[in-house]
Amino acid sequence: MKAIAVTPKQANSIRLEEMDKPKTANVKNGRGVLVEVLRVGACGTDREINNGEYGVAPEGYDFLVLGHENFGRVAEVGENVKEFAVGDYVVATVRRPGHSFYDDIGEQDFTTDDEYFERGISRLHGYMSEFYAESADFLVKIPPAIKETAVLLEPLSIIEKGLKQASDIQERLKIWRPKTAAVLGTGSVGLLTAMALRLRGYEVHGFGKDPRDGYLNADLLEEIGVTYDSTMETTVLASTEKYGEFDLIFECTGYSPIIFDAMQSLNENGVLILASVTGGDRKTDQVPSDVINQKFVLGNRAMFGTVNANREHFELGVKDLALCEAMYAGWLSKMMTHKIEGLENFAQAFDILNNAAKYKAIKAYFEVGKI
Ligand code: BGC
Repeated sequence: MKAIAVTPKQANSIRLEEMDKPKTANVKNGRGVLVEVLRVGACGTDREINNGEYGVAPEGYDFLVLGHENFGRVAEVGENVKEFAVGDYVVATVRRPGHSFYDDIGEQDFTTDDEYFERGISRLHGYMSEFYAESADFLVKIPPAIKETAVLLEPLSIIEKGLKQASDIQERLKIWRPKTAAVLGTGSVGLLTAMALRLRGYEVHGFGKDPRDGYLNADLLEEIGVTYDSTMETTVLASTEKYGEFDLIFECTGYSPIIFDAMQSLNENGVLILASVTGGDRKTDQVPSDVINQKFVLGNRAMFGTVNANREHFELGVKDLALCEAMYAGWLSKMMTHKIEGLENFAQAFDILNNAAKYKAIKAYFEVGKI
């Protein structure tokens, strides 16, 4: 079968590899499921891996099969798989247990291991292939009604984890009635975050770099009642003069200096969620540290980082995809701007990833098999 692979740490090594079709029998305890890949999303992490900035090959291989945003159909099940049947739609989670205590209890998204195992990213092959085999333990069932947009579930799961941690942390308050939220970054993750917050009843304000005029992402935000401001015209901090300080801020720009602006734009008792994996070595000296520290102390503000997601967060995401369709019919499909037919057209996908603004691309994805 065909698969899209890279040589990790070697820039632009992307290519097709011919591989053996995986076998259900190779998964332990009869729990194997063979999945026919239908769609795979391409994202900034895939771009970084192909740029040679990130990613590790599995042991015994000098290449890594890419792809972690996945959607597929069950083709075969092992003898101890009772929860899935041939023909079911599924999405697989990304991280697999390593060695820490958190991994032992199924919370590998909170691993304390330095070396972690993530399909398509770190030490495990991903889903940009015609088939994959996986234990039923790491698959989430997808209702057929949301099959058209289910490839968005993996990025949404990251947001679900962030929002779940925020509400867990805010249990420190006997009452927390957040009203306003800011979403920093208006790429596909920012759009999904804004949507998830609208479903939870927040007044949401989105911030991106692009000018408003002709920016499709801002059109989509406004369609679901979210404002858009370009940070080229107004900073997040300056925007608090019109919107007030935010009860919750979700940062997903990939531009780390903005977090200091965000820290100053948070309301009393508010929570700031950091979700960008910034692989570079950018530094900033524009930090009013006394002001920030005092605001955090005197206002009981909180900030935390979040990465990855476990099964629970994928399951929350399934519900939000369905609810979004009920509230904003057709909106999610508009995010899926660029369909690439077949894995062999990988060059086209990475051209779009590298030039998202030129293509007005929000989400590019491979159509590997027919739904
Ligand atoms: C993936 C996560 C992963 C993270 C860090 C993201 O692109 O969606 O599942 O944990 O990268 O590798």
